[in-house]
Formats: sequence, structure tokens, C-alpha cells
Amino acid sequence: MNPCPVADEGDPAKRLTKTILSNSFLALLFVFAACSDRADQKPAPSPGIDSTVLKAREKKRNDSLTALNRKKKKIYLTFDDGPNKGTRNVLEVIKTEQVAASFFVVGQHTLDTRQQKETWEMLKADAGIELCNHSYSHARNRYTSFYESPEGVINDFNQSKKLLGFTNNVARMPGRNAWRIDSIDHTDIMESKAAIDSLHASGYAIMGWDIEWTFNHKTLAPDADTALLLRRIYNMLEANKTKTPGHLVLLAHDQAYQQAEYVENLRYVIKQLKNNPEYELLLTSKYPGVR
Ligand SMILES: [Zn+2]
Repeated sequence: MNPCPVADEGDPAKRLTKTILSNSFLALLFVFAACSDRADQKPAPSPGIDSTVLKAREKKRNDSLTALNRKKKKIYLTFDDGPNKGTRNVLEVIKTEQVAASFFVVGQHTLDTRQQKETWEMLKADAGIELCNHSYSHARNRYTSFYESPEGVINDFNQSKKLLGFTNNVARMPGRNAWRIDSIDHTDIMESKAAIDSLHASGYAIMGWDIEWTFNHKTLAPDADTALLLRRIYNMLEANKTKTPGHLVLLAHDQAYQQAEYVENLRYVIKQLKNNPEYELLLTSKYPGVR
């Protein structure tokens, strides 16, 4: 076969050379086409490597990644008392930095003003954060009398649950650092014990905190020493002084982040935690013993 006859085809020697060249060209084309075909398909496993060997290699790689993550210390960022004037700033930092964070919301605060209603809608619309129950009334800041009535406490939390439709059962007591989860039973002020027990028995996982980022209640300025806060976090985890070793719950308050300077302090702390390869930031529903 000679696909491209030319003027010198009368010379048998030249014709033979031409035929060989043409056939070689066709063979090359065939190989090229076969390769192109293969490039369009998923690569078939090499016949030399058993698929079980490949699977074993993949499992080994996944196992070592899991082991690496398991070694990381877990930090749970929690923000209380919103929606209020600081909530949108906190949300902006969380979204920009793309970190996990849980907002413990007060039911009444989602209704107080139009701005707070809109902020609640913004919180709800954000799929990356977690929304948890911090009561409906926040005890109206009268904690002693609030905790005298276990039934009243349950009704108050249920009112928020019904209003806001939380998708998890994680709750935090107003004005009390109390814990009721599978692995921890802790009460800071014993007069509140019966009410907190009852709330837990009604189905809530109650989460306190390990470190609070304190703020001045008059000026609303958060504690400015961010280096000290980061050192406290590091030391507490290293010394295994958290409620669960290797896990630290940080409490902050939305209302402390209303001014640009304080928002930048929050951003700085979050960046430091996020960029530390020994830490992993998680939602509170992932805390061991919460279910
Ligand atoms: Zn609170």
C-alpha cells in the first residue's frame, strides 16, 4: 500500500524505500493513536502491581495521616451571648480565617432589635459554624434565683430550642461553668447542681470551658494581652490541665469585639491557633463525650 504516489514510483528501489517509509509512518500513527486513546481512559492498574497492594499502600498513608491528626491538640472556639453588636465582627473573622467555631446563642437576643434579628439570620445562613443553646433569658442575669427552679431552667432552654431550632443538643449554662457530658460531671457553684442535673437529664449535653478570654464589663474591652492568652492555652494543654487532656475549650464573648482594635486582637489569636501545626480547631459537637 502506497498512500501517496509520487512521480518516481517507476523506480522499484525507490518505491520499496517509499513503501517502508510509509508503513513506518502508519505504524507510528497507530502507536500515537493508541496512546491518545489511553490518555482519555482512566489509567488501568499496572498488571505488575496487585490491587490489594495498592489498597494496602493507600490505607497505610491514610492511617499515618489519621495518627498525625490524632496527635494534634484540639481547640474549640466558643462565643457566648449573641446575637449582639459584636457578633457580626466575630462572624467576619471566623469566615475570613475559615476556622471552626461555635456560637452559644441567647434566644431573647435574636428578637431584641431588627439588627439582632438580621444577625441571627446571618448566623443561620453560615454552614461553617455551629449554633448552640445558651438559654432563652440568660437568667435575666439573676443567676441565684434562676437556678433555684430546675423546671424553670428546663423550660427556659426549651423555649430557645423551639424558637431557634438548633440541630445539636449542646448547651451552656448562663453564669456557670458547668459540664454534663458522658466523660465529665462538673459543677462550679453547688447551689445550681439540681437544676443543671435536670437539664442534662432532659437531653442536653452541657459544656463549660477551660479558659475564658475575659473582658472589662464596663468598657467591653477584651483582655489586651494576647501573648499571655496564647501562652495560657499552650501551658494548660502541655500540663494536661484541661477538662479532657489534649482538648481545650476557649470561651470568648461576642460583645467584646465591637471596636476594630479588639477585632484585630481576635483575628491575631485565631491566626496563631490556626497556623500552629500542633493544633486543630473543631466544633463543640466533636468534643469527646458529647452526643
Ligand atoms: Zn453568657
